[in-house]
Amino acid sequence: MRYSETFIPTLRDDPADAEVVSHKLMVRAGMIRKVAAGVYNYLPLGWRVIGKVEQIVREEMTRGGAQELRMPAVQPAELWQESGRWGVYGKELLRMSDRHGRDFCIGPTHEEIITDLVRGEVRSYKQLPLNLYQIQTKFRDEIRPRFGLMRGREFIMKDGYSFDADEAGAEATYRRMEEAYHRIFARMGLDFRAVEADSGQIGGSFSHEFMVLAATGEDDVVSCTTCDYAANSEKATSRVSPPEERETPALKTVDTPGVHSVEEVAEFLKTSPDRLIKTLIFDTGTEGDGRFVAVLIRGDREVNEVKLVNTLGADGERLTLAANPDIERITGGAVGFSGPVGLKGVRVVADRSVADLTDAVTGANQADRHHTHVLPGRDFPLGETADLDTARAGDGCPRCATGKLVIQRGIEVGHIFKLGTKYSEAMQATFLDPQGKKQPFVMGCYGIGIGRTAAASIEQNHDGNGILWPMAIAPAHVVLIGMNMKSEAVRDTAERLYVELRKRGVEVLFDDRAERAGVKLTDFELLGIPLALLVGDRGVEKGSLELKERKDGSTTEVPMDDVVDRVADKVREALGGHGG
Ligand code: ATP
Ligand code: MG
Repeated sequence: MRYSETFIPTLRDDPADAEVVSHKLMVRAGMIRKVAAGVYNYLPLGWRVIGKVEQIVREEMTRGGAQELRMPAVQPAELWQESGRWGVYGKELLRMSDRHGRDFCIGPTHEEIITDLVRGEVRSYKQLPLNLYQIQTKFRDEIRPRFGLMRGREFIMKDGYSFDADEAGAEATYRRMEEAYHRIFARMGLDFRAVEADSGQIGGSFSHEFMVLAATGEDDVVSCTTCDYAANSEKATSRVSPPEERETPALKTVDTPGVHSVEEVAEFLKTSPDRLIKTLIFDTGTEGDGRFVAVLIRGDREVNEVKLVNTLGADGERLTLAANPDIERITGGAVGFSGPVGLKGVRVVADRSVADLTDAVTGANQADRHHTHVLPGRDFPLGETADLDTARAGDGCPRCATGKLVIQRGIEVGHIFKLGTKYSEAMQATFLDPQGKKQPFVMGCYGIGIGRTAAASIEQNHDGNGILWPMAIAPAHVVLIGMNMKSEAVRDTAERLYVELRKRGVEVLFDDRAERAGVKLTDFELLGIPLALLVGDRGVEKGSLELKERKDGSTTEVPMDDVVDRVADKVREALGGHGG
């Protein structure tokens, strides 16, 4: 690529609508331009980065046993009606109708299309497993498109779908994809965590989000400082040690006038917040006896609503905190003084932390009164217990004996998920097993945001002057800078190196513009290409050139005869045996 002939419209200033650094820098480096909210043009340099990300994804998906195909962006409503999603997907789904008045949508994802394809073609277990993927444009009418490519409305996704004959097969495919994802993000040079994510009703550890760690991430990533445990904040668990075990004298009811918060109650009753049992009343929004649920948790901990929803199953779907009049009626007492002792007519679910408590304190279901010396199991039945707790930084790691949890921000770049038979059952997608019996396919789905991955790389790798691309996804490996293109010696040397470097498989952006050297160096920093080879009069005379690293700004003098080898070696090293 000759800079003078390439469309790289760089900007000095940040665009006014950009909030995060990747958005600012991609616009300033002439990689993207906005067309409408969340809809972008990808300019040549940006498109090269996208191409690199896609290529790594392709290679590793192939290694993981998946095959590439291509499905349409436009999808007929009938398939979405069959899966039941036409009615529930909501406003993110861009719907339209054709000239005959038939309904269509632009695909935000492709489970329906692929399930329809496979059910039409695959008859026997002998044709399984099958793992298919595409790299394609999606449309989701996001409420708040923002952050450039990070949350667009039109965006490029790699989406893959697997079909297996049984659970064991589906799990093996899932593990292969998990490994492929590790290789993909490692090759891109990203600092990432594979976190256990909430897999709703499916259970088990069959949903992982791949998170690039960056301060601007929209998600919390909980991970261990010592072992490889990592989970998103909706799913994370921790080791919470109980307060010291004590003899629990007979239950007492005491006046606690005007004390409300956990801290106030603990102080007033000369105990600690971790000996309090909080009682929260939730409304499941259903009719009948099971409508209200009392949730018990230790005073110093918080309920994680996603865990609660999953624990409650079908009752969790429309969960809200109960209204005050309902709380008063159910507990027979005042709001703020609820407790499990004597509570009747509601489902009670206790967090695990409550089961270990001794000599505890609870609300007495009367205004301004609490019970002390409460022993769970003795003074109220300990029925259902579950992990409902929100993990916190500093908590013990649930996996290893010594580690502590930390919470960092992350950007979700990929998501793998075991779907089970959700779509195959809804859409009657079946095959014949060895006994000749119809069975639904056991499915999995695997997504990667291609543009979001490129943007996440910038969030993680940049400095005050511009982008710092890892070699594997940089738009070029080296910028060959003709420091003064008026000089014939510089021009001749640079032209020769341009040819020789490319012969060695090095991707070169040859800055052959009639600009000042300072301008070229500033653009080199903005574009974030990992290396710059500076060709100036002095170097040509001396017989050695400066090779500059974008990452740390360091320069080394390289003898003219070694320059091509040195650059090619550096590129090869950085790519770790892949490509180059
Ligand atoms: P999010 O929670 O960020 O909205 P999602 O759960 O809706 O993501 P999936 O449906 O699992 O995402 O899509 C797979 C991948 O596609 C995501 O991991 C992400 O990298 C990417 N992606 C999703 N929505 C967008 C978007 N609006 N813009 C760019 N990439 C996206
Ligand atoms: Mg989404």
